Amino acid sequence: MARTALVVVYDDQQRLEELEQALRRRFGADYQIRPAATPAAALDTLGRLRQDGEQVALVLADQWLAGMTGVEFLCQAHELYPTAKRVLFITYGDAVAGTAGLQAMALGQLDLYLNAPWGPPELQLYPAITEALSQWARSTSIGGPPPELVQIVGPRWSPRSHELRDLLARNSISHGFYDAESQDGRRLLAQAGVEAAGSPVLLLFDGRVLVDPPTDRLAQALGVQTQPTLGRYDVAVVGAGPAGLAAATYAASEGLRTLLLEREAVGGQAGTTSLIRNYLGFPRGISGAELASRATEQAVVFGAELVYAQPATSLRPAGADRVLTLADGSQVACRTVVIATGVSYRRLSVPGLEALLGAGVFYGAAVTEAKAMAGQRVAVVGGANSAGQAAVHLARHAEQVTLLVRGSTLAEGMSTYLLQELQRAGNVTVRLRTEVAEVHGAGRLESLTIRDRATEATERLATAALFIMIGAEPHTDWLAATVERDNRGFLLTGRDLLRDGRPPSGWPLDRPPLLLETSLTGVFAAGDIRHGSVKRVASAVGEGATVIQLVHTYLNDVAPAVR
Ligand SMILES: Cc1cc2nc3c(=O)[nH]c(=O)nc-3n(C[C@H](O)[C@H](O)[C@H](O)COP(=O)(O)OP(=O)(O)OC[C@H]3O[C@@H](n4cnc5c(N)ncnc54)[C@H](O)[C@@H]3O)c2cc1C
Repeated sequence: MARTALVVVYDDQQRLEELEQALRRRFGADYQIRPAATPAAALDTLGRLRQDGEQVALVLADQWLAGMTGVEFLCQAHELYPTAKRVLFITYGDAVAGTAGLQAMALGQLDLYLNAPWGPPELQLYPAITEALSQWARSTSIGGPPPELVQIVGPRWSPRSHELRDLLARNSISHGFYDAESQDGRRLLAQAGVEAAGSPVLLLFDGRVLVDPPTDRLAQALGVQTQPTLGRYDVAVVGAGPAGLAAATYAASEGLRTLLLEREAVGGQAGTTSLIRNYLGFPRGISGAELASRATEQAVVFGAELVYAQPATSLRPAGADRVLTLADGSQVACRTVVIATGVSYRRLSVPGLEALLGAGVFYGAAVTEAKAMAGQRVAVVGGANSAGQAAVHLARHAEQVTLLVRGSTLAEGMSTYLLQELQRAGNVTVRLRTEVAEVHGAGRLESLTIRDRATEATERLATAALFIMIGAEPHTDWLAATVERDNRGFLLTGRDLLRDGRPPSGWPLDRPPLLLETSLTGVFAAGDIRHGSVKRVASAVGEGATVIQLVHTYLNDVAPAVR
């Protein structure tokens, strides 16, 4: 097979040659560069490459071409090569082309736009093309999957197998799953000298074997810290979603001894999102996993101590200290605490559904399971953005996606760009005023009975998997006796704690609670867990940064320095 192609079309002959040479110099060893002077010639090249079964990684076009715009050309190229990344060149100062490019980005007709002339290619052209190539390689798994650090051999539809895969995926640990009944599964178990049983078996890259390990044991085996090392911290941040990661980063960077506790996977809900499109500074979006891994590295580089698989289970005041109890019963003293424990999905109450959890029924695992849905008919329940994103993501792999929505319209709960993506997907059916009445399947989900809420008419839907995205519950049960919550369990902070303008009873200070401070002085809340929070990545990060300013205020004004 020939090298993967980059197809370039430019009307201006001089620009075309410059671009071809620049690409050939940097990428010529690995890719064939295929220039074309007209869109017709470029489409002809793409057609022939397709006929010969060749790969195309990128299609690059100027906006102004003979007979059609660059965006129109890229749309046609996309039909021939749906996985190739599309790059548009816009000449500096060309407002009309600029507007067309931005609109095409918003409509998902374009992956990247670059300005021409591009000057020294090292500055903008090469970095952008390298990033586009790596996105293409990631999305197509070209060059093979990454080496498997963990191989899980277990029953295909067992909930525990799913939990372990989800855990590893959410922590970006490359792994493979092998059905214990398959030939590969049996071979791996035989090589490891383990008998197949009902439980999943984990084979680590260095030969160690773990049979259905609890999370902390798995974490330890992978070299992750599961115990705090200091006797006392200036601030303990509970939860490593966007809010907790931001709080830990700012706290550590400002010299505070910082502990960051995470029970499952860094990134929180954001870490499960395939593409965050509305986070400031990432016009082409960023995957939640990548944002989480960058933020974790940043927090750790500044000196935050990340302790994994040890959820906080209770909190109590002890003089000037705040003491957290961890899952293993150990205790950690801190001068302040930031609670950033976020929320998790609301459960769907349907008979038989819980028994199929992980066996075709999933809460918020669309990213993890999407590839496994190739050729399957699947359903998503929910009418807000998370359900829309899941449906769009699943549609790339599954044969057919049905979005089941209780309400009579989607427009209220879902962003316009998602509505457009759903329409464009081609294999997504939206069923409004519809709910799940029953689930069917022995050992794994096979079909659903859905009910029209207006007519009560029911219908059976063959479905291999059901993804439920219907809202969220706050993680605050462990705080019920310590801090004030609203009637849904979200933490009250700042002005929301005031009754007739006065702080809650027992409030010990002359000043009212600070902006993000809870009813227990020195204990703060940030992100989705807070009553009235915005429920966006950016607002969680913003609160994570703000809360550390308030921690400083508290430490300076109230808490005796403990050094
Ligand atoms: C599928 C999906 C798609 C989304 N898409 C977008 C989007 O495109 N744009 C956008 O702006 N927002 C999006 N959101 C919302 C966004 O992800 C959340 O608003 C954001 O993650 C909230 O951050 P957080 O840090 O407050 O909480 P979370 O992200 O919920 O993180 C909380 C963390 O705390 C941990 N934790 C919980 N209890 C404990 C405990 N007792 N001890 C230790 N750790 C604990 C959890 O394991 C978790 O890691 C999406 C959400 C979902 C679910």
